[in-house]
Amino acid sequence: MAVFQVGDGKDTDFWRENWLPRGCISVSSPTLFTYLGRSKLTVVEALRQHRWVRDIRGSLSAAALSEYLNLWDEIQEVQLQDDVDDSIRWRLTSNGTFCTASVYELFFAAQVKSQSAELIWQTRGPSRIKFFMWLITKGRCLIADNLQKRGWLHEDGCVLCNGDQESCDHLLLQCPFSNRVWGLVRTWIGTSFPLPGEDNWEFADWWMKARSCFQTRSRGAFDSLCLLICWFVWRERNFRIFEQKTRTALELFRDIKDEVVVWREANILREVG
Ligand SMILES: [Zn+2]
Repeated sequence: MAVFQVGDGKDTDFWRENWLPRGCISVSSPTLFTYLGRSKLTVVEALRQHRWVRDIRGSLSAAALSEYLNLWDEIQEVQLQDDVDDSIRWRLTSNGTFCTASVYELFFAAQVKSQSAELIWQTRGPSRIKFFMWLITKGRCLIADNLQKRGWLHEDGCVLCNGDQESCDHLLLQCPFSNRVWGLVRTWIGTSFPLPGEDNWEFADWWMKARSCFQTRSRGAFDSLCLLICWFVWRERNFRIFEQKTRTALELFRDIKDEVVVWREANILREVG
């Protein structure tokens, strides 16, 4: 079997060659691999600003999401060496596993571009959260409406407001709990912008409208804050379902404020408003 030893990462195919400790991604993350768009990235290209994440297309199953998170952690360990060329080493192997591009050819999915997707990738914030937001804006987070489509067991209804339906749109737009959190944030930053539940918005439309209420120099900070709040609402939903822990909207808001301090110190977020 060929093992690619990555130096500067310029000659190794990120998705299809055997360069990671757990082997080729198509073998170590077979489910995730089926969500790959028509991607051809070298390792160095893929690692730059987590470019590889953007080549994952479609509605991720729980198995694919789990593989994604494992792959994410594996990739964090990679250190490229600028002055060393990539090389190939051959190794005898008992199972003779080979990477192949055929799976990728079979599962080619059309590229979907949208204004909000572009905005998400430009926004300053941790990439895990950006990836989450990118799924959300495509209505593809793993929540009840998606689980139901796959016939899986799920909680009926929204655990945040005890409403009778849960969907990506509900959670981030109409849910009264989310809107209470947003209302507290609005009062705190002292800039008037519409709350997501105030009209019949699509998420991306609401985001564009809300950010337009800020001066140009503050819009980037609002975008980061928007990611942060959506992420916290999503996590609150998961805490309630998986850990039976519940925070009120006010408690969640206070935790968001604490996180804003951390983001500011990490230079992710500047002043809002
Ligand atoms: Zn709700």
